[in-house]
Amino acid sequence: MRLSPALIASVGVLLGSTDTTSQEKVSTSFAPEMIRTKIAEEVKAIVIRQLEADGNWNVTESPNFRVRHQLSKEKSEEICRAIEKIRIDVQKKWMKNADSWDQKCDVSVYQDGKQMEWNTGKNAYYPGFSEIESAPGGRVISRKIALRSDAHNIFTHVMPHEVAHVTIAGSPGKMIPRWADEGIAILSEPRSSLDDFQKNLHQLQKHQLFSLQELLTMDYPELKSFGTFYAQSASLTNYLQKRKDPPAVLAFIRDGMNDAAALKNFGATSLQDLEADWRRKMFGKE
Ligand SMILES: [Zn+2]
Repeated sequence: MRLSPALIASVGVLLGSTDTTSQEKVSTSFAPEMIRTKIAEEVKAIVIRQLEADGNWNVTESPNFRVRHQLSKEKSEEICRAIEKIRIDVQKKWMKNADSWDQKCDVSVYQDGKQMEWNTGKNAYYPGFSEIESAPGGRVISRKIALRSDAHNIFTHVMPHEVAHVTIAGSPGKMIPRWADEGIAILSEPRSSLDDFQKNLHQLQKHQLFSLQELLTMDYPELKSFGTFYAQSASLTNYLQKRKDPPAVLAFIRDGMNDAAALKNFGATSLQDLEADWRRKMFGKE
């Protein structure tokens, strides 16, 4: 789920308003020009179909997504192209082999938090969320995303974040650990999201940070540690992808996230060695 640093920083904010991350139109593309042009052509060629309405909901379908909404045909097509593009971007960056999905991801676009809460039971303050169902071996069985069309940063932040979650799920050949799941989702947003989270880290005492071992194995922490967890997850994922490349992060997970995996994928003598270097980078300038 996407929680901005500002949202996490204040439980007061959690009770009421929407996301407060700055509005900016920053491309989340990271690929070189030639690849970007190719992706743009792929996205333009995507076939989008308007299906029969499902009660009060219009249904628009693209190759990998089925979107239920109460928006115009044009707006729904814009959403389909945007999420198909994010899916391609995430796959090209993090995975060596792009996977096709057996089943489309169901996307519900609600008008506001109230409508989302009424339909999903999730708190109205979320700008959106995603849900994955997987088999015991980690194979993904179903993907779902909920979005709010009134979130001001839906195209720049919420969609990249949630589509990254459903795209990366199961990609290391097992369920993705939480740190990498949130780290990759945050890194799919504009760079300012990572910067905002990292800024928060500098306000923490060393003993408030999670150790690498804790972070690698934990699920979401209790509410008061959410900010630290999101910030450290983004920081670690960013550090690891830079130390080698993005696919090495998934290979490290696949290889067991232990000393041998640290050596094989990042040339670190041990996890401890990796942690010491990450901490230096986390608090220093990149
Ligand atoms: Zn998330």
